[in-house]
Amino acid sequence: MKEYDLIVIGSGCGILIVNEALSEGLKVALVDKGPFGGTCLNLGCIPSKMLIYTADRIAEIQEARKLGVDSEIRSIDFGSIMERMRKSRRESRTQLKEEVKQLETLDFYEGEGHFVEDYTMEVNGERIRGKKVFIASGSRPLIPPIKGLDSIDYLINETVLELREQPDSMIIIGGGYIAVEYAHFFAAMGAEVTIVEMLDRIAQSEEPEISALLEREMRKRVLIHTNTQAEEISKRKNSCVVIAKDKSTGKESEFSAQRVLVAVGRRSNADLLRVEDTGVEVDERGFIKVNEYLETSKENIFAVGDANGQQMFLHVANVEAAVAWRNSVSKKKVRMDYSAAPHAVYSHPQIASVGLTEDNARKDYHISVGRAKYSDTAKGEAMMEEEGFAKAIVDHHSGRILGFHIIGPHAPMLIQEVTNAMATGGSLQGIYSGMHIHPALPELVQKTFENLEEA
Ligand SMILES: Cc1cc2nc3c(=O)[nH]c(=O)nc-3n(C[C@H](O)[C@H](O)[C@H](O)COP(=O)(O)OP(=O)(O)OC[C@H]3O[C@@H](n4cnc5c(N)ncnc54)[C@H](O)[C@@H]3O)c2cc1C
Repeated sequence: MKEYDLIVIGSGCGILIVNEALSEGLKVALVDKGPFGGTCLNLGCIPSKMLIYTADRIAEIQEARKLGVDSEIRSIDFGSIMERMRKSRRESRTQLKEEVKQLETLDFYEGEGHFVEDYTMEVNGERIRGKKVFIASGSRPLIPPIKGLDSIDYLINETVLELREQPDSMIIIGGGYIAVEYAHFFAAMGAEVTIVEMLDRIAQSEEPEISALLEREMRKRVLIHTNTQAEEISKRKNSCVVIAKDKSTGKESEFSAQRVLVAVGRRSNADLLRVEDTGVEVDERGFIKVNEYLETSKENIFAVGDANGQQMFLHVANVEAAVAWRNSVSKKKVRMDYSAAPHAVYSHPQIASVGLTEDNARKDYHISVGRAKYSDTAKGEAMMEEEGFAKAIVDHHSGRILGFHIIGPHAPMLIQEVTNAMATGGSLQGIYSGMHIHPALPELVQKTFENLEEA
């Protein structure tokens, strides 16, 4: 059996740990079953955002009429839009894999591994043991137990990227961020898209008023059925038929479309790894339990990224990898702090959010809330952005920023200055000390804080 200083499972954020360990001269094994580079590069953030960039441009052209520009899209080349994404991801993956293969001091085990005993894994019939183990094994789509689902060739975030031909119509089961992003993409491509969501709103983890505006805006292009649970799916001629029930009235409805995309959430890969065989505990959802130092229940085993199910975004995974690495080598441990962890939803309109929602903040703080619309700024007015807005949540006593939420154009970029201010203590000084260009959209952030009122 080969012995290592450390084993890293997963080539997503796990690669950061591999690089750190190799630079310390440690003997490292990387285990990954592929696709190399993990979810973000191959199946998640990057390919989806490449597609959505095109969808955004289409939406912009379609909406130019309000600015007095009458334009027409003559054709959309779905095949080349998909192929641009696949080519870019192929090239990035090949380059990353080559770089890793050239690391002479790294042993790369390409295959699915699982634990067989404490600190010991089996991969491709070989046994390896690590003094320390970093589990960065990610997540995979959660497939709901809907009767008949297996009888159709349903899509998930992995297979949707392989489409060669544009579906004329699509039912998306789920209303979280992956669902609304793909709804935006396929609607822009010209497909008739129907969202079937069992909860009472889409983008459920956002502020309720942000979900409400998103739903209102998306309804201009997408059919949305909330509070509606998909119960049975079947194939009828060339269509997939979804029978769903309204959760309030019990009334049944039938939806049909050429394809069905399942996007109801993510599940842990800890089961594939059989983490219990090395004494690592999982929570009730199957994600690996970690403490604030990202240590698992077993000494010298850490879990980072989607594997621990905390906040499943790549930028969070990368920070977790850095924190876990540091905690594994230093006596002075650092806590993983999620209080200024931002995220974005690339729907149309876009959403970005950092920190607490109003309801969550209220549980522990006496708060002030500020709101401003894009149209309250000169640039927003120039853009004729009538609906988009931002909302700030601040601790009324200390003035510390607790949360910030935006819906509208460039929201993921606008949130950054608030994230930076929150990451450096959350003082409003962080926002006001720098001049804001006039006229430019960051004035929305300033305006939102100017409107703070005890709430
Ligand atoms: C459609 C979609 C869009 C997304 N968009 C965004 C976005 O815009 N921004 C953002 O920040 N995040 C986004 N995410 C989330 C983001 O992709 C993940 O949070 C991130 O990739 C997780 O990284 P990770 O390193 O934890 O795991 P991964 O990148 O998933 O890496 C885990 C690796 O471990 C391997 N593995 C698992 N089990 C085993 C085993 N038993 N043996 C061997 N290898 C194994 C897997 O094959 C995989 O390569 C998106 C996700 C999806 C699905």
